[in-house]
Amino acid sequence: MPFADILGHDRIVDILRRSICTGKTAHAYIFEGIPGCGRRKTAVALIQALYCRESQDDACGVCSSCRKVSSGNHGDIHLVEPLPDKRDISIAQLRELQRELALRPYEAPRKACILEPAERMNVSSANSFLKTLEEPPGNAIIIMLTENADMLLPTIRSRCQLLRFSPLSEECVRKLLENNGVESSVAAFAAQMAEGSMIKAVIMDNEALSERKALLCQHLEQLDMRRIASVFDAAESLSGNRDETLEILDIMLSMVRDAVITTSGCKSPQNRMPKGIGALPLEKIIQISEEILNTRRAVQRNANAKLALDNLLMRIAAIAN
Ligand SMILES: [Zn+2]
Repeated sequence: MPFADILGHDRIVDILRRSICTGKTAHAYIFEGIPGCGRRKTAVALIQALYCRESQDDACGVCSSCRKVSSGNHGDIHLVEPLPDKRDISIAQLRELQRELALRPYEAPRKACILEPAERMNVSSANSFLKTLEEPPGNAIIIMLTENADMLLPTIRSRCQLLRFSPLSEECVRKLLENNGVESSVAAFAAQMAEGSMIKAVIMDNEALSERKALLCQHLEQLDMRRIASVFDAAESLSGNRDETLEILDIMLSMVRDAVITTSGCKSPQNRMPKGIGALPLEKIIQISEEILNTRRAVQRNANAKLALDNLLMRIAAIAN
């Protein structure tokens, strides 16, 4: 994927393109950002641009080198990540990488390596890697991806150029989903929930989610304090393990956020809105969103999911009725 196709990181792409133009790319980079924000794509774009002989500061995307890079079949690019079932990137893996980097490239002007997640190098493997980082053999380029550069040893950080990727904007996530053929209403919803991560967005964009959304709507519409059983039924059917419950709370939040926007006349809703809640006055909707946020925090702190939802739904029913 050439730089031209990277969305949402204009400043970083600009820095990288200029460094390619002037021949001043760093030999080691740290790309910091949340998973799914585009760090790996940008790393691949950088390598592709460095390897492409057809154009200057970006990959042409069509030459044989570009095609090999984007299909993940380029013999000069090495990916290092923890082995299956292992927590850390081991010293043995890094030694192997150092051996590989020291060999002559097969066809590219230089070898390249993407190491992810860099914070999974333990102290001894990180230390074994310092020399390579300082002077990569054969002018190799090393790109380390991490969620948090502060988790890396200062000796590692000081040898690399650090680029910080912000989470993608909702607009970017929506566009990227639509470019991948996701229907626009689904893309809008998934983008809202994705917190700037394409990985999260793709997880959100699935059938199970639409089913949970429909179920949630149905339960919220039937909530009635005069029939307390309706509250307990809803909590029973909606709560799951901690992550599932958090997901339901996120869907509720997104619906309520939509209700706020619609009620205040800003724009038309993207979600199907539970009838009762959509018709409430603004201050009640805001009250409900505060209750959801409180519950979300409690569940995050390991409160019992079912009890937390029981409580929340009772409060919502009381506010709504
Ligand atoms: Zn090319």
